Amino acid sequence: MNPSAGRYRPSQLTLAALLLAASALCPAVGAAERVQVVASFSILADMVDNVGGEHVDVTPLIGADSDAHSYSPSPGDVRALSGADLVVFNGLNFEGWMDRLLETSDYRGPRVTATRHITPLRHAGQHHHDRDDASREADDRSIPEGVADPHAWQDMTRAGTYVTNIRDGLIDADSAHAADYRANAEAYLARLDRADNAIRDQLNELDDEATIITGHDSFGYFADAYGLHFRAPEGMATSSAPGAARMAALVDTIRQRNVEALFYENMTSPGTVDQLAEETGLPVAGTLYADALADDGEASSYIGMMRHNARLLHRALAD
Ligand SMILES: [Zn+2]
Repeated sequence: MNPSAGRYRPSQLTLAALLLAASALCPAVGAAERVQVVASFSILADMVDNVGGEHVDVTPLIGADSDAHSYSPSPGDVRALSGADLVVFNGLNFEGWMDRLLETSDYRGPRVTATRHITPLRHAGQHHHDRDDASREADDRSIPEGVADPHAWQDMTRAGTYVTNIRDGLIDADSAHAADYRANAEAYLARLDRADNAIRDQLNELDDEATIITGHDSFGYFADAYGLHFRAPEGMATSSAPGAARMAALVDTIRQRNVEALFYENMTSPGTVDQLAEETGLPVAGTLYADALADDGEASSYIGMMRHNARLLHRALAD
């Protein structure tokens, strides 16, 4: 879709002749002319790949095992955007850097906000009811009430809305392949639905009151969809280490609520979880995939990552 400017610049006449020849040879869009999609992070890139299939090339700005919260765009990202036909991002302020990046690049094409039409969960201070007033006042990392939680992909039903938004964006950008995008999306949505049901069945066996500790508050939608309670030393972003007061409050929570398992996240530093393990004597039961896919293996796809998380939680919490 975007002819890249090579070092060799043909004269306008030659270029016109080349274009004429090319259009005679390939009446439709040529196989090499895939839709160039930039997705802000790896989970979205996998969804785009599933819906776009052979018609798209997807470039994630934030790759596997990398943290979108603490990300800062590079000149390479500006270049990737300049050559893009479609940009897909999460929204709900997950990519706080996105507006400025789009402004910096000369990208003026269509944008897909994957969470469009999703009613976000809002932080309602629910993490505070089990703490006393002193620790609440001392907590330097409280999330203001009413802030939208961006991690909606952690619920596979809401992820279905991501997929339909991506499908519609691809149809807008490349209507010639609309039928393929519709068929791919339908097949992918059916796979999401099957995995969603399997995860629901698996986690229904667990005590709904079980509490799990992860690196940051990224499992709100997972809890909303599949049960369980999640607590984290860091808030909905991962920007800095939690304060002593928050850590102390979390250690209290762990003791009061009979927490059975601590988990690392693949894209955040293990330091705070290690510290909690040391202070409470609880083991770390494995790595959950929160905001990024794995580089390889099962969790290198969105569906695989969700299955991995469910199986790991089941193994750690089943009696
Ligand atoms: Zn996050």
